[in-house]
Amino acid sequence: ANVVLWREEYDRAVKLPAEHVAEEAATGSMARAAWAEARRNNDFAAFLPWLGKQVDLRRRRADFLGYADHPYDALLAEYERGTTTREVVALFDRLRPELAAITAAAAERSRSVPAGLLAGEYPVDRQAAFNREVAEAIGFDFEAGRIDTTTHPFCSRISPGDVRLTTRYRRDDFTESLLGVLHEAGHGLYEQGLPEAEAGRPVGSAVSLGVHESQSRLWENHVGRSRAFWEKWLPRAASYFPHLARLGPADVAAALTRCEPGFIRVGADEASYDLHILLRFGLEVELVAGTLAPRDVPDAWNERFRDLLGLTVPDPAHGCLQDIHWAMGSIGYFATYTLGNLLAAQLVQAARQGDPSLDRAWAAGDFGPLLAWVRQRIHRRGSLLAPKDLVEEATGSPLRPDAFLIHLRNRYLGGN
Ligand code: ZN
Repeated sequence: ANVVLWREEYDRAVKLPAEHVAEEAATGSMARAAWAEARRNNDFAAFLPWLGKQVDLRRRRADFLGYADHPYDALLAEYERGTTTREVVALFDRLRPELAAITAAAAERSRSVPAGLLAGEYPVDRQAAFNREVAEAIGFDFEAGRIDTTTHPFCSRISPGDVRLTTRYRRDDFTESLLGVLHEAGHGLYEQGLPEAEAGRPVGSAVSLGVHESQSRLWENHVGRSRAFWEKWLPRAASYFPHLARLGPADVAAALTRCEPGFIRVGADEASYDLHILLRFGLEVELVAGTLAPRDVPDAWNERFRDLLGLTVPDPAHGCLQDIHWAMGSIGYFATYTLGNLLAAQLVQAARQGDPSLDRAWAAGDFGPLLAWVRQRIHRRGSLLAPKDLVEEATGSPLRPDAFLIHLRNRYLGGN
């Protein structure tokens, strides 16, 4: 597997002329600065030349790399090896109508959940202490990692013994930093669980962005927003934040599973999140195919946003200018967020079916068996298999939307 991956990496590298790589790097730097200013000024016209340039560069990149069916395949493959545009389109086509219907119904039901249930003062040092306790309990190894503060949370592995997470804090809401830590700790657990003997070689690294994201979403959404998690952790949270003592675990879980569609992807709830991704993926494929012109992006965005989420986008900052990805040239990346969500649900389903003790442990707020399961089937496998083969080996079937849709229906439209 190492030789195959080295070969692929080498072949890809030598297909790209040095001038093209230099132009991508230079454009990325300048486009990022232009995007930040355009977003601040809510001015799509100022970003348009850079978007056009990035799309053009990515199309040329696809031509250099080569593809069998669609130029977008070449871009997607850099984030999700072996997955084709056609496969993602088919998955997303199945997901779209169901997800839109679940989101609409969940938003309706969420109206009965009072807003501001968790309102209060949350001193940052207490949030940090609570988050650390939780991260340690789910298995993050602080002898081989740490948590720091940034404006945009991320996880980064410096070396096998040094995995760094970051989060950000709000003084009026402790769940943003906590869910940020659970998300990044999910990435971190994967990095800490990779086969150490293979460190520095391809097999010792994460297999794909989609699989990476499945690990973060698993801890953030399936664990962190579950009632079982709060059965265990609410008393500890209340020892740090005494006003929470008036609430029950069901209240906290209800507050964290409120569905309230909005304009901004990073602030989206679990049910509506993937509609934001489906929108971006569709536009990207058309931009790369040349069937959508960069100047028509705002209109296409706004029209599809209304269809999918029923909301009218007020301005570009709340629409097509909100994300940094296109400015960075990361076209082909967005799909991996949804692939990760689908896989997280499929993994949890397979783990529960495969290990009968897991449900009992889960109900008691013990997620050790879940970690052991993903450690063995995902983390320890590194990049030994192609992502698709890994998914099939771990869950017994190719990636499907079914487990995710069942999870959403149970959680957002179920009886409790
Ligand atoms: Zn992530």
